[in-house]
Amino acid sequence: MRDPVEREFLLGFWKIHILHHAEKHGVYGQWMIEELRHHGYHVSPGTIYPILNRMATHGWIRATEPARSKAARVYRITARGADVLRRIRESLGELSGEVGSTRSPRRASQTGATARPEHRASPRRTTASRR
Ligand SMILES: [Zn+2]
Repeated sequence: MRDPVEREFLLGFWKIHILHHAEKHGVYGQWMIEELRHHGYHVSPGTIYPILNRMATHGWIRATEPARSKAARVYRITARGADVLRRIRESLGELSGEVGSTRSPRRASQTGATARPEHRASPRRTTASRR
């Protein structure tokens, strides 16, 4: 992972994403890789599995015993993980309320800049629309 943006920000987003899906239906590594790909992120097994392991070590998710030895380990959220997710959701709501908007009328007036003809709508994809 050489991209500093991935390391500093996206890793955290992916963990939240994992908690969310682990709460809804349980996740396993390959499923999570594909899910993140749908969101436009290309995350390797070498990134996802250590994240899942670390989150399990924290006690936020727990692997169920696979029915067959070769079957995937499905992780489900624990009570502690659900608690973490609740806290994160509060922070997310706060953050997206302040930062998530693409309009920035305050900044324009602060700098005294004349209004642009149109505020550029960022083409960035957000995960918020796919809850
Ligand atoms: Zn998702």
